[in-house]
Order: sequence, then C-alpha cells, then structure tokens
Amino acid sequence: MKQRQYQELKASGQIAMIAIVMLYATGVVVGFVGFPSLWYLWAFLLLAGLVWIVRWNLTGLAFRCPSCNEIFEITVRENLSGANLLTTKRLICKSCGHLGWAKVMRVKE
Ligand SMILES: [Zn+2]
Repeated sequence: MKQRQYQELKASGQIAMIAIVMLYATGVVVGFVGFPSLWYLWAFLLLAGLVWIVRWNLTGLAFRCPSCNEIFEITVRENLSGANLLTTKRLICKSCGHLGWAKVMRVKE
C-alpha cells in the first residue's frame, strides 16, 4: 500500500481560497441582480459553488499534532465541530490524546 503524502497548507493559499470564494459569490449576486430572469442559472451556480467548497474543506485534509507530530485524519463530523483558524484547528490528537492547535495538512494527490 502506498504511504499517503501530506503537505502543509499555507496561510496565503487559504487567503487566496477565501478571495476566490468571495469573487465567486459576488459574481453570482451581480448576475442575479443584473439578470433576475436567469435566476435558475444563478441558483445552480450558487449550489455548485457551495458543494465545491464543502468538498474542498472536508476531503483530503489531515492534521498534524503539535505535541507528537503524528499526522491524523478526522471524520466530517469532527471537521464541522471545533474552532478553526485558517491553518490550524483545535483537535484532540488520535495518537497521544493531546488537545491543541493541530496544523492543517493537505493530502497530496
Ligand atoms: Zn499527538
């Protein structure tokens, strides 16, 4: 079995991501206001964007324990709970039980 590879998520990458999302949302809103007769198109785009964001945020992510450096993955439910700061998340380590700000890692494809 191939060992999974992880890379650290950069704060700049996260900020770029938020900027893209905001641009996208603005585009959809402007489209909706400018061409309300095409509301189904904007509704579809909005939905597609939301699905994409949720998928992006909930899949392919792993976390590195600040105490033992072990990398672990969490369930979607765990991902939705707990404080999240761009590149860190407050989690209990699956390996040593340490509660701390685990670094967000992205699984390399
Ligand atoms: Zn740990």
